Amino acid sequence: MAVCVRCGDRAVFQTDEGPLCAAHFSAWYEAGAARTIERYSMVRSGDRVCVGFSGGKDSTVLLTVLSRLNLDAELIAVTVDEGIGGYRNDTIAAARATAARLGVEHRIISFADVCGHTLDELLTTSPAAACSVCGTLRRRALNMAARDMAADVIATGHCLDDEAQSVLMNYLRGDVVRVTGSHNSNSGDLFIRRIKPLCRSTERATVAYGLCNNLLVPLPECPYTKYALRADVRRWLGSQEYATPGTMLHIVDGQEELVRRISKPCGTPKIMGVCERCGEPANHRLCAACRQLDRLAK
Ligand code: SF4
Repeated sequence: MAVCVRCGDRAVFQTDEGPLCAAHFSAWYEAGAARTIERYSMVRSGDRVCVGFSGGKDSTVLLTVLSRLNLDAELIAVTVDEGIGGYRNDTIAAARATAARLGVEHRIISFADVCGHTLDELLTTSPAAACSVCGTLRRRALNMAARDMAADVIATGHCLDDEAQSVLMNYLRGDVVRVTGSHNSNSGDLFIRRIKPLCRSTERATVAYGLCNNLLVPLPECPYTKYALRADVRRWLGSQEYATPGTMLHIVDGQEELVRRISKPCGTPKIMGVCERCGEPANHRLCAACRQLDRLAK
């Protein structure tokens, strides 16, 4: 039986420091998130932090860790209700319970508030577009909610696996703007800065933290998961990480280094303005959400 290198109790997780017991692993995980917040100067003193809080495992761990870190910041949890039958009601109930237990203010914003329709209504003829539509409208909903509550940043529960998958997916799509990080913004206060405090923590460690702290409850899976391109990338990347631990961190660190070395982004940087229809931040005449809604209407 492996024992904790700090106290000799039964170990539950192998870290870069060695095997750790549940209590010391939790402290190690929280210290990692604190280092990530400091590394990227994510939170400033007095910030209002809008935490994107689906009620799933990643965002539940995020909200718990942020509330335990004694940050000099105010936390407000926001759940986006996409309107997905047989799925979202259970996760909203779980989100309410967790926010109440942590004593964090909790708000809910729905796709109906954002565009007048649920995700199920939008996808009646094109369910395969689910994750693309959902992601675009969720970003808009969170941005609107954060602006309404005068938040300084939006924190999301993306972990290292999500980040490495996103880097690979940008290459798979040939999305040079994202690969080279050549975004500029002149959308002023419209676009709220985003932070990902768990972005250097693996999904495995995040789940282990949730289990060690009794945070996880069984929840249904989104019925649209089968349409996600990310599922294939996740499977492939998971096998690479298993064969060569550290692969995901190399991908993410390599991407950061690439962006740093490109002193002048390729081509003309994209300037973010505002959507001429809805007034939200946009890279084109219409923002991504309005273009998605137009495509669905056709
Ligand atoms: Fe939205 Fe796709 Fe996630 Fe379902 S699986 S919640 S549709 S992004």
